[in-house]
Amino acid sequence: MRTFIRHLGDGKWEDTPLLSYKEEPGTHFKTITRQVLSERSEDFSTEMRYFEIASGGYSTLEKHRHVHMVLIGRGTGHCLVGNEISEVGFHDAIMIPPLTWHQFRATGSQPLGFFCMVKCDRDRPQLPTDEDLRTLRTDPVVGEFIRI
Ligand code: MN
Repeated sequence: MRTFIRHLGDGKWEDTPLLSYKEEPGTHFKTITRQVLSERSEDFSTEMRYFEIASGGYSTLEKHRHVHMVLIGRGTGHCLVGNEISEVGFHDAIMIPPLTWHQFRATGSQPLGFFCMVKCDRDRPQLPTDEDLRTLRTDPVVGEFIRI
């Protein structure tokens, strides 16, 4: 694998595509950008991404087999992991276990930026079915928090 250094310039990493988060039809307010900071090689099977959610936005409510290791880099917000909602901020580290519902919301006045490590080879996220949503909403606090 080759050496590279990506420098941060003006809030974004230089020479690194700025991608918009997976946009699915029917979704409304979630303004998220993504930069993939790592480069896959046979010696490194992990991907390091940086996401930024605009104030008021949120990530997709989803679950999957693969694990996320998240480190907050900017701003404050809240995350749902399983049925627990936590306030998160600068340098908080969050591990999201397999098959656990999760969602991040940028509830502060600044964007919520976070680093997220995943395996390169990973399963696709599962979205909640109506049945899943009914189950999630049996906890009123969770029901109040989630955005679909
Ligand atoms: Mn996820």
